[in-house]
Amino acid sequence: MNYIAAQIEALRNELHQHNYNYYVLDKPVISDFEFDKLLKKLQDLESQYPEYFDENSPTQRVGGQITKNFITENHQNRMYSLDNSYSKEGLIEWEKRNIKLLGTTSISYTCELKYDGASINLIYVNGKLSKAITRGDGYQGDNVTANIKTIKSIPLLIKTTNFSDFEIRGEIILPIEGFNKMNQERIEAGEDLYMNPRNTASGSLKLQDSAEVAKRPLDCLLYQIIGDKLPYKTHFENLEFANSLGFKIPDSMKVAKNLDEVFEFIDYWESKRHDLPYETDGVVIKVNAIDFQKELGYTAKSPRWAIAYKYQTEQVSTKLLSIDYQVGRTGAITPVANLEPVQLGGTIVKRASLHNADQIEKLALCLNDEVFIEKGGEIIPKIVGVNIDARTESSKKIAFISHCPECNTKLVRSEGDAKHYCPNENSCPPQITGRIIHFISRKAMNIDGIGAETVELLFKNRLIYDIADLYSLTESQLLPLERMAEKSAQNIISGIATSKEIPFEKVLFAIGIRFVGETVAKKLAKHFKTIDNILKASYDELVSVDEIGDKIAQSIIDFSSNLNNIQLIERLKQVGVQFKLKESEVQITSEILKNKIVVVSGVFETLSREELKRLIELNSGKVGSSISSKTSFLVAGDTMGPSKRIKAEELKIPILTEHEFIQMLATSIRRLR
Ligand code: AMP
Ligand code: ZN
Repeated sequence: MNYIAAQIEALRNELHQHNYNYYVLDKPVISDFEFDKLLKKLQDLESQYPEYFDENSPTQRVGGQITKNFITENHQNRMYSLDNSYSKEGLIEWEKRNIKLLGTTSISYTCELKYDGASINLIYVNGKLSKAITRGDGYQGDNVTANIKTIKSIPLLIKTTNFSDFEIRGEIILPIEGFNKMNQERIEAGEDLYMNPRNTASGSLKLQDSAEVAKRPLDCLLYQIIGDKLPYKTHFENLEFANSLGFKIPDSMKVAKNLDEVFEFIDYWESKRHDLPYETDGVVIKVNAIDFQKELGYTAKSPRWAIAYKYQTEQVSTKLLSIDYQVGRTGAITPVANLEPVQLGGTIVKRASLHNADQIEKLALCLNDEVFIEKGGEIIPKIVGVNIDARTESSKKIAFISHCPECNTKLVRSEGDAKHYCPNENSCPPQITGRIIHFISRKAMNIDGIGAETVELLFKNRLIYDIADLYSLTESQLLPLERMAEKSAQNIISGIATSKEIPFEKVLFAIGIRFVGETVAKKLAKHFKTIDNILKASYDELVSVDEIGDKIAQSIIDFSSNLNNIQLIERLKQVGVQFKLKESEVQITSEILKNKIVVVSGVFETLSREELKRLIELNSGKVGSSISSKTSFLVAGDTMGPSKRIKAEELKIPILTEHEFIQMLATSIRRLR
């Protein structure tokens, strides 16, 4: 191995170890800054020496691969489902059957929690993660390897022992905190919320852009290792072994010498599981001895040697007192139920979300109904049912409001939309203040010194009516307001002034065009460069931008055809808010290709030739027109002629596939979008 190869290898090993320390052990030994430095060093080396490309390098964790159609693959070993039991009696029955089949009463078990996510089968060949396949129908699933590689707690390489070829199964989960954060971002972008962590985790596996998956805080908890010759005789020891290889195995798992100990485990976790950072919905009990497992085998659907005990989701009943209708900044109406206070999962619950009119309709809710509520992954609990028997003759069905509770405008609901909207965007108070509150928020203009309350106060005192009014506020206007000290007034004014430096992409997010969240705003800004270009773009131009779909394009067109919006933007422009990318942001995104001459040839799958060329320039490279000894490398598309390949080979010029090239520039491609 030459020096460069050795250097690259050493960096890769070091980074794999740091990922493991951070994501599996939760014990980082270096700072994020140092980690990023090492990663950058490796990225630079890899792009300088593309011949050492490795699809399992830590640099591949950032994703960037686009999968249009996931390939279906057969499982080498069927992925069964699990038999369920909702009671301890069910477990006793299960044990009786096993005793009969095995002819012994001494059976010990491994108890694990049942992690609530999406199952995955990871295949390692020669110590390398080679494939990740979803459960699918148990016989075949989808190959989602590119997406799975972005999950940092999954080892891409493991220590090679004489056990380096195996399958390992686990659950892809989305921790509750990360899920809530994702929803917070959706709220800020005026988008519909994700339902629950489980669906979001399984939906993430099928995203086309693995760079999007990389941004989601997914994790993977493993629960079974499969191989011809398992290293240990019990399931528990095999999982401990997997743990030593670098897989994340929750330390909640425990050996139970008999069913009584299983029951203890079940009772212990019944309430304790709510303290875990992720959702669980039961306990999986597995016969511990592998020999016994083999002897017991499988039914048509599930292993006889394992069973899931499902916890009852905690449900309580209470009285539905009234319904409030909240008006968001986009005018969306959200019904919220007011309940008679009741204890649920350790907290007192007074309100429950109802999402939209359909939900009220589905439950045929009446005032004073006795309703059942449950807590899921969401922050606020939901109503899941009604005690119909408790209804009286005088029960009155709840009719969804027809007019805005704040401004009395008739509500509208367009086809295919789950929500009702108040269309009075220009004078409905919560829409006005909601837009201003969004504008000043941390991820938008990040204006120090003002919070939601101040906005309400300023609006009530008729000092601001829209976001542009902020920029004409003066200290002397603020001082007479309730509880406004001189210092705070100064802070507000200077905070507003500083916000004129906030870069265009954030401004674009801040002005609150429906469905234009942070990421979309970034993409639009990079692509169109100025607000004028965006507002005059046609539908076709908008949808031609990567990841801009029909809904977003239509929303931008609606926005730009409203004269009020155009006037507002003009006023913001006049006070000096940024509506263009800065020169420096337009030009270079990286120096990965500095001093490199790259030749592009053939037809490409994911990028057009023009885009490829632009990428090269944005990363400080030069586009060469023909192959010569000066060419640094060749990016070869499908239909490249054989003569070019021969020439490149003669001159010993490295040939990269489109995919390899994209991998190499993954970081900068993401910035570009
Ligand atoms: P079910 O979907 O109800 O048939 O339950 C089977 C699924 O439970 C499996 O496919 C796994 O994805 C999931 N599961 C979660 N935690 C575990 C665990 N500790 N052991 C086995 N399966 C588990
Ligand atoms: Zn209204």
